[in-house]
Parts: sequence; structure tokens; C-alpha cells
Amino acid sequence: MQLKIDLHIHTHYSYDSLITPEELVYYARKHGLDAVAITDHDRIDGALKIAKETDFPIIPGIEVSSLNGHVVGLNLQEPIPKKLSVSETVDKIHEKGGLAVACHPVAFMKGSVGKNANARFDAVEVINASAIPFGYSVKHGEKIASSLGIARVAGSDAHYGPEIGCAYTIVDAELKVEDIAKAIGKGLCQPFGGPIPLTTRLKAELLLLRRKTNKLQPVI
Ligand SMILES: [Zn+2]
Ligand SMILES: [Zn+2]
Repeated sequence: MQLKIDLHIHTHYSYDSLITPEELVYYARKHGLDAVAITDHDRIDGALKIAKETDFPIIPGIEVSSLNGHVVGLNLQEPIPKKLSVSETVDKIHEKGGLAVACHPVAFMKGSVGKNANARFDAVEVINASAIPFGYSVKHGEKIASSLGIARVAGSDAHYGPEIGCAYTIVDAELKVEDIAKAIGKGLCQPFGGPIPLTTRLKAELLLLRRKTNKLQPVI
């Protein structure tokens, strides 16, 4: 089965995301996805809760802030501690039975692992729809993935509903989390998609700014 999956989404359990569980499912269905991975910053509780409460297929994951850049862990049931080295982070993800993804390995302003991407990762996120500069990051992501000889995946890195599905991975697997994870580990997947449109990105920034200013207003 060819499954269309966005492997990198932040819900409102991430401090910088606007996406509610209802919006997540709405946009995932609207954009024709078969499954999504929830990868909140340094926490997995939201992903596990949403996976339990919705009938839409969810891969529980986490985006770990390691000492040398962000690392995505997929198919996990427990959090992975932040502020470890990249190799310790990859080890922890593997110990817990997950897949380690070098997400946006060369994007600017994103906390990228860069040269710390190595063959112990299971996959490289070649396409990250929110990476800047987009073309540069795809080109160098491709180079890293082919030099390491590991799987190539894609995700939107959405923080706002309409961004979901801008980039996605086609995985050749049955629609079960374990099957999907195994297929990615074997490289039975391909990255697709483009950058988040500028207007969508600006709308997201405005909404986030509005949320911040509302929070700053004194309660009378
Ligand atoms: Zn990141
Ligand atoms: Zn992210």
C-alpha cells in the first residue's frame, strides 16, 4: 500500500504551534493524508493523548532538542531527554524502539544537526516544507542522505493547520504504525512536496504574534 504521510507536525502541545487536535485531523483529511506523525518539541504526552483519542492514524513522535541540533524520533511511547549529544539522542531513540530522523539537517535558524548527521540515523528529512532557504536545504539534504545511504523522508514541520501536508512521505506499508516504521527503516519511502507558501507562513506568524500579545496583556 502506498501511504501518504506527513512525518513532522507540531500540535499546540508545542509552545510555538497553533494546531489543535481537531485542526490536525481536519487538515490531514483535507490534504489527502493517510497518517501523520506528531513531533512536538521535547514532549510526547500530547502525541500519545491525541493518538488515543482520535481514530485518524497517528505515529507518536518527538522532536528532541539535542546539544547539537534537532533530532526527530518516530514511533515512540516515551519521551527522550533533551540536551544530550546527537549520538546519545539517537541511542536513546533506538533503545526505546524508535526511528531517529535527522530533520532539516541544513536549514538556517532551526537548530540543525549539520555535520553531526551520520549513518546511525535511520533517515534524513530531505524535504522540510518550512526550511529556509528551501531549495538549498533540499539539495544538501539529498546529498547527506545519499552519502549516508539511508532513507529519505519529508514532512511539513507545520505549526499552523493549513501547512499540514505541504511536504509528505510516500511509504510502502500497511496502515499500522509498526509496519510504517519498519518500512521507513528499510528505505521503502520517498519524499515529496514543496515549501509552505509565503502567504500561509505570514498568516501563521501573525496569529502567533497575536496569541503572544494577548498573553502579555494584563488581566483586569
Ligand atoms: Zn526543528
Ligand atoms: Zn519541527
